[in-house]
Amino acid sequence: EAKGEPISTYRFYSAELKLVSDHQAALETDMRRGIAQGEFQVYYQPIYSVSTGKLRSFEALLRWQHPERGMISPVEFIPIAERSGMIIPIGHQVLRDACRAAASWPDHIGVAVNLSVVQFKDCGLVGKIEGALRESGISPDRLDLEITESLLLEPSPRVISAIERVRQLGIRLTMDDFGTGFSSLNNLRRFRFDRLKIDRSFTRDLDKNDSAEIIKSMISLSKALQMEATLEGVENETQLAFARNEGATEVQGFYYARPMTVEDVAVLLRDHSGKAKHGGIAA
Ligand code: C2E
Ligand code: MG
Ligand code: MG
Ligand code: MG
Repeated sequence: EAKGEPISTYRFYSAELKLVSDHQAALETDMRRGIAQGEFQVYYQPIYSVSTGKLRSFEALLRWQHPERGMISPVEFIPIAERSGMIIPIGHQVLRDACRAAASWPDHIGVAVNLSVVQFKDCGLVGKIEGALRESGISPDRLDLEITESLLLEPSPRVISAIERVRQLGIRLTMDDFGTGFSSLNNLRRFRFDRLKIDRSFTRDLDKNDSAEIIKSMISLSKALQMEATLEGVENETQLAFARNEGATEVQGFYYARPMTVEDVAVLLRDHSGKAKHGGIAA
């Protein structure tokens, strides 16, 4: 009704905005309760070596099982947790859970944990990382921290010192969602990242526009800087073959497995003893 009337358009728009902010406020309240009630759970998605076809690590991915709304995606709740600062306790829990889970896996299997830019505002971050390692007893080189390009856009002294301390501890560093933000190639080298994770939007669009060329240049950049390159979002044989032919070192995606519970990880480790279920990826 009242199409084209600027005033009603405005009213409609602000009503929409109000709905969005009410929804977020409700989620924020729910989130506090959810943390206390143990509704947040870490899932794990396997990552495989392209050259050997063997399982190398798992990425920890947070899930929220809401009592009324069902499973809520981290794409929806992580930004709210970041804005409210709740990502700091939640992120700490993910670190501890992930390290504890890894302690029950074979020693050659690593674990990757996503860190939000907001977690770097916490001056206790590095202490929490050390604490999670100590508690679990896993070797620091089994932990891989995934951070996004935005962290390095204009890194503050606190960010720089946190990254340097993490490097000194022997923890791995991955640049996540590579190619989607503004990267400082200089910072990639300065902080000696171990790995680039190529965002799945490129993998998905492999047969469209220039995605294939962009992925190839990201892989050659990783090689030039002595980094590994993980292709994310591999869903089919074609994408896997591309990863292999272009020299990506690792692959992750629904072709192998979706993120799973820690119990399912134990089953996978037992059944496949670290071998990819689609055995044919080794050259
Ligand atoms: P991300 O770190 O880039 O994680 C990869 C995302 O791609 C995951 O989504 C995973 O389920 C999805 N994915 C993997 N393979 C495929 C595939 O073959 N096809 C498709 N369509 N998707 C695939 P998820 O679990 O929904 O997480 C989304 C984002 O939320 C993550 O992106 C990460 O940025 C953030 N996130 C998740 N858990 C945490 C956490 O514990 N801490 C922080 N700070 N962020 C988190
Ligand atoms: Mg990630
Ligand atoms: Mg990613
Ligand atoms: Mg991504």
